[in-house]
Amino acid sequence: MSSAPIIVRARAAVTMCGRPIDNAAVAICGGTIIAVGKWNEVRASNPGEVTDLGELVLMPGLINAHCHLDYTCMRGSIQPPQSFTAWVREINEEKSALRSEDYITSVAEGFVEALSFGTTTVCNLEAFAALIGQMPLPPMRMWWFAEMLDVRHAIEPEEIYSQIKAVSPIRGGIGLAPHAPFTASIELYRAAAAVAQRHRLPLTTHLAESREEMQMFRDGEGALFEFLRSIGRSMSDCGQSTPLQLLLNAGVLDERWIVAHLNELTSEDFLRLESSPRFHVAHCPRSHAYFAHERFSLRQLRRLGSTSASGLTASPVTRTSAC
Ligand SMILES: [Zn+2]
Repeated sequence: MSSAPIIVRARAAVTMCGRPIDNAAVAICGGTIIAVGKWNEVRASNPGEVTDLGELVLMPGLINAHCHLDYTCMRGSIQPPQSFTAWVREINEEKSALRSEDYITSVAEGFVEALSFGTTTVCNLEAFAALIGQMPLPPMRMWWFAEMLDVRHAIEPEEIYSQIKAVSPIRGGIGLAPHAPFTASIELYRAAAAVAQRHRLPLTTHLAESREEMQMFRDGEGALFEFLRSIGRSMSDCGQSTPLQLLLNAGVLDERWIVAHLNELTSEDFLRLESSPRFHVAHCPRSHAYFAHERFSLRQLRRLGSTSASGLTASPVTRTSAC
């Protein structure tokens, strides 16, 4: 790469540190940003070729901390449901009609759309780990998280890791994603965490996404409880604690995890968080609103020290639904 500086000028620059800069420029040398500021100041102290972008805003690439590009093709196909459980059932029904090729096409479409929004890093939860090697080359940094459920069949995280480790993305990497406490057992969470520890992988999961999940784990009742019992899930972990406390009690959450949602938290949950290990939170205001949850406690979570990626969980399919 050339070491000669390059200067990029634009109508404004948003640096995420202070107010946007009008009539801005960025000086880049050897692939590193060496100066950002007013055009005349940057120009005065940096020689080099100038590219003037005109009426555009320069800003850091967006990070989508949680999405499901498999389901880009399902956008608009599900009408607003009566309940979270009804929504899960409808998604499963839609999925039953899709083939591997559909998912690969769907992911490719998701790449294009994410890039058009300025997204330069994506954490994608991939439901079909075996397909990762067949996916098109991502045009951005791509983290593939193999999604794992054992509500119907046992699953071995080390085998999943072996399946995806051969994938060597040019940019990005791989991780593991036990789906949610209602579809992944605590044993699976622990096994995934152990494999991640061995191979230095990041982890992600869905947690406290719906009122029905809260009902299931805290009260041992509700539509999700009945649905999962009907398909043979052991419900022995229900009627005891909130979803968050279930995972905290199991001791699996720590700084390696990106936890998606946390839409439903109790005051007792917040008390537990005061002394629990820190983890990252990916919250989606759009899915939060879709299921009409109470106001999200972003400030309270930030005060506790969680890194929040608010608003970045929306995959193409989740723009009208939840993830
Ligand atoms: Zn999701």
